[in-house]
Amino acid sequence: MDSQSLPLAPEPAERPAVLVSACLLGVACNHRGEGSPDPAVLALGASVRLIPVCPEVAGGLPTPRLAAERGPDGWVRSADGDDVTAFYERGAAHALALARVTGSTRAVLKARSPSCGSGQIYDGSHRRVLRDGDGVTTEALRGAGIQVVSEEDL
Ligand code: SF4
Repeated sequence: MDSQSLPLAPEPAERPAVLVSACLLGVACNHRGEGSPDPAVLALGASVRLIPVCPEVAGGLPTPRLAAERGPDGWVRSADGDDVTAFYERGAAHALALARVTGSTRAVLKARSPSCGSGQIYDGSHRRVLRDGDGVTTEALRGAGIQVVSEEDL
C-alpha cells in the first residue's frame, strides 16, 4: 500500500478558538518571569481550541520586566516612570491579528493586567490602587467585537 492509499484519520470536530493569556496556561511570561496557571482556564482546553498570547512579550518587552500600570489617560508607564505605551499597543495589535486569523470571537484574559485586564486595572499610581477600565489589549479586542472575560469570570 503506498502512502496515497492510506486511510485518512477522521477529522476531529472543529472546536471554537478562544484567545487566552499565555500566563494563565502556565507560561512564565509575566513581569516577574512567572506564570499564573489557572485550573478553570486549563480545563477549557477540553472543549475549545485555546490560542495563547502574551501581548507584552509580543509587543517587544523582555521577561522579566518592570511592573507597569495604565493610568486614566490611557498611557502605560513602568514603575520608574517610563512611557511604555507603544509596546502595549504593538502587543494589542498582535493579539487582535491572532484573534482574526484563528477566528477567535472570545477571549479569556488575565484580570487586572495593564494589557489583559477587563473591567478593573491598576490606576497608574503604582500603589496597587484599582480603577475601572480595561487593559490595552482588552480594549482593542472589545473594540473589534470580541467578547473578553477574565479567569475570575469562569
Ligand atoms: S501581558 Fe497578559 S498574557 Fe502576558 S503576562 Fe501579562 S497578563 Fe499574562
